[in-house]
Amino acid sequence: MYKLRLLFIFLLPAVLSAQSYKKLHQRAVVVDTHNDFPNQSIEKNVSFDQHLKGITHSDLKRMKEGGVDVQVFSIWSDGTFEAGKGFARANRQIDSLYAWTNRNPSAMMITKTVADLKKAVRQKKLAVMMGVEGGHMIEDSLSYLDRLFERGVRYMTLTWNNSTSWASSAQDETRNAVPNGKKGLTAFGAQIVKRMNELGMIVDLSHVGEQTFWDAINITSKPVITSHSCVHQLCPVFRNLKDDQIKAIAKNGGVIHLNFFSGFLDSTFSKRNTAFLLAHKQERDSLKAINPEPHFTEEYLFAKYPEEVKSLRPPLTLLLDHLDYIVKLVGVDHVGLGSDFDGISSAPQQLDDVTGFPLITKALYEKGYSKKDIGKILGNNFLRVFRANSSK
Ligand SMILES: [Zn+2]
Repeated sequence: MYKLRLLFIFLLPAVLSAQSYKKLHQRAVVVDTHNDFPNQSIEKNVSFDQHLKGITHSDLKRMKEGGVDVQVFSIWSDGTFEAGKGFARANRQIDSLYAWTNRNPSAMMITKTVADLKKAVRQKKLAVMMGVEGGHMIEDSLSYLDRLFERGVRYMTLTWNNSTSWASSAQDETRNAVPNGKKGLTAFGAQIVKRMNELGMIVDLSHVGEQTFWDAINITSKPVITSHSCVHQLCPVFRNLKDDQIKAIAKNGGVIHLNFFSGFLDSTFSKRNTAFLLAHKQERDSLKAINPEPHFTEEYLFAKYPEEVKSLRPPLTLLLDHLDYIVKLVGVDHVGLGSDFDGISSAPQQLDDVTGFPLITKALYEKGYSKKDIGKILGNNFLRVFRANSSK
């Protein structure tokens, strides 16, 4: 009996802690600002309301399991979808989101306003939001921008890796290959940022070059976000945020949503990943002949060698390191989560798919973050920015 009681006393804190973080996660409004499922669904010919475990990072059932309340789906296409193609490609993905939502009205709800978002959360439906990732999809047209807003798009990432005619990307700026030789926003780019402010479409500064970042943050009259970016000081890759950028976002009242991609979190990942790919060079070359897209070969090899791939993944604590860094630099009001699930080939250990979100809450809880602060990180910070952008 004594032994039993002793065992109980030892186990009690662990049991309580498990209950607490689960309850905390359940009660919080959990927002993920970046998920690439709409494009993934085209490439893999699958639907969000299917069971896709082992095929994708996300589906409706697993998102529920992960306790995600609000998902901003990325409407993405690469730079080959330019004039005459980008807007149609964006609408095709938006059509899919509407179709899945219409088929599952008791589980999903298209969310255009803060009131919609609250209603969806209250009714325990997934709040479906949209962000266009890549300004090339408006095809240099302000009326296309307006039409995307009407359909529900609530942020636009000014550029993806490719620059537009009006904004230079981080990839192009760092490689010194900016179209027209000019970094930053053009006069038309400034007009687009202003139009987004008027509409209530959040300016997303993930992927943009540093000059575009500074131009946009000086022009915007509303708080901005980065929907999926990490800390340059901890992992110096071309599109992570430098300290002065993090401080500027905080000053603007904005939020940095952290990307879960191993290569943006762990500065050693790229080197180790290259070594893995080199070890399978022969196979990779024959795959390239079938489909030259790098993500095709990577995905194939990743699926084929799961044990090797697992060892490439950084620990979950590294994601928390990026989070802590931002909190220490500018406070807890300016950080959130933007997983990039279904757009990334590797995430930290344990974050296998969208069901992993509660583990982040657990880690935050164990680190001693208060209930209020955890609520901010999980979603209330995003809500603040969404509300500020919606007000006239
Ligand atoms: Zn991206």
